[in-house]
Amino acid sequence: MRIQNVTFLSIFLLLLTACSSPERETATLLIYGGPIYTVDTTQTTVEAVATKGDKILFAGTLNEAEVYKDEKTQLIDLKGKTMTPGLIEGHGHFMGLGYNELNLDLMNTKSYQEIVAAVAEKVKTTAPGEWIIGRGWHQSKWDSMPKVTVNGFQTHDLLSAVSPDNPVYLKHASGHASFANAKAMEIAGLQVLSKEGIDKFTVEGGEVMRDGLGRPTGIFNERAMTIITEHIPETTAEKNRKAFELAVAACQRNGITGFHDAGIGKETIALYEEMKAADKMKLRIYAMLTGWDKELLGEWYEKGPMVDPDNLLTIRSVKLNCDGALGSRGAWLLEPYTDRPGHFGHETLPMEFVKETALNGLRNGFQVCAHAIGDRANREILDRYEAAFTELPDTTKDHRFRIEHAQHLHPDDIPRFAGLGVIPAMQAVHMSSDRPWAIDRLGEKRIKEGAYMWQTLLKSGIPIVNGTDVPVEPLNPIASLYASVSRKTLKGMPEGGYEPEQKMTRAQALRSYTLDAAYGAFEEDIKGSITAGKLADFTIYNQDLMTVAEDKFLNTEVIMTIFNGEVVYEKE
Ligand SMILES: [Zn+2]
Repeated sequence: MRIQNVTFLSIFLLLLTACSSPERETATLLIYGGPIYTVDTTQTTVEAVATKGDKILFAGTLNEAEVYKDEKTQLIDLKGKTMTPGLIEGHGHFMGLGYNELNLDLMNTKSYQEIVAAVAEKVKTTAPGEWIIGRGWHQSKWDSMPKVTVNGFQTHDLLSAVSPDNPVYLKHASGHASFANAKAMEIAGLQVLSKEGIDKFTVEGGEVMRDGLGRPTGIFNERAMTIITEHIPETTAEKNRKAFELAVAACQRNGITGFHDAGIGKETIALYEEMKAADKMKLRIYAMLTGWDKELLGEWYEKGPMVDPDNLLTIRSVKLNCDGALGSRGAWLLEPYTDRPGHFGHETLPMEFVKETALNGLRNGFQVCAHAIGDRANREILDRYEAAFTELPDTTKDHRFRIEHAQHLHPDDIPRFAGLGVIPAMQAVHMSSDRPWAIDRLGEKRIKEGAYMWQTLLKSGIPIVNGTDVPVEPLNPIASLYASVSRKTLKGMPEGGYEPEQKMTRAQALRSYTLDAAYGAFEEDIKGSITAGKLADFTIYNQDLMTVAEDKFLNTEVIMTIFNGEVVYEKE
């Protein structure tokens, strides 16, 4: 009896080792030695993470993780530094980011004079006739306004004076207005010195701003921007590739391993496929098809979504642009602007198209992501989504339709997000930049009841996808996380934060940049948390962003980015 038992046990042990030991998984990477926040509710922090290839093999205690170590395993000692899942930019413009790196960056200009000086500098190195393109100016960020303004915007005269031979086109930080010089307007066929013929440049859903004499001031709003842009020569394939690579590098520097690209067309899709094939796609892109191109949408409805088995480039959503921005008073409101009586802003596409796209999305397996800033635009979209869900009840179970920005909501519409399962993709850093002047546009009551309603939305049971809307704001996720938890400007104002009851907790903020962003792309099973079996994407910081004092939060820096189980960025 006894002998038999022992024999049985030894045979069992023998079998066990025979089965497990040749097959024991060995780790490519073993990371340990600092706080590791997993965003996984079953174990919110772990001591160590082991990866194999592009996947997470194990997350837990260091003792257990060491079982997976052999002589080939690369060890990463955090030395007290902090790690989280790789961050996901939940709404940005990838090529815009790349071009921002290529073109004149006006993001930090503090006056009209500074813009003029930057262009004058660029003129020196640009051949006559060649376009000068820039982006990122915002008159609300200026220390002082020029003497001459029209509707709160500068006029082109100074810009035209420093660049007589080079057409200049400078996009507003919001992306919803542009500023052109005389040469650019001449090329577009506009008479700069008189109001003659200007009426033929009337564009629906846009505005050519005019001075008291009826002459164009150089400001083109919304769809009127195309009057100029259609004359800007297309970029070369080489430039596009360069911009792509610069955007990848910028993401890696910022700890971004996933990127929701809010609206791309045929050419960009082709570029992405080319870059993926060339092994240059060192981040995961979740791209939305631009709703402006109906032919493109038709093609994709027919062939259906593309969910990448390599987890690099997935296309299964459609982006619609439904109103303008608050800065240029293009956001579509239920009640008039507080600082422009009688003006409600406007829709930028027919609302019927939102419903049509929602129905097409449901039928063909595409998510719809509609841009809406003002409360009217948000309501109209929720109405159209709801109508489509009602019409096609069988297809609506897991639609994950989104509203991009969802910045200003009527209180009655806030619970509708959770009710309908519509995900708000809100870029927290917009609050830091816009809140100081947004109150002029909306007045105190609307700001307090309905603007940037993060905590109310989260409490209602719907996750928020965070981000920056880069290049509207810099890509820096630390700034947006700081805005999420502090509700202050990036200068730390005001004390206590704006509408502090709407702050996110640090855990909520981190989720909005990881697991909840992944949810917004149907990808929560493969990324967004440090969980065995998920993709090995991590971001490592110089300090513990979950516990550091709020006034030190903005000192957080990304010091290492790991993508697909490989170190792709390390700060010198
Ligand atoms: Zn955007």
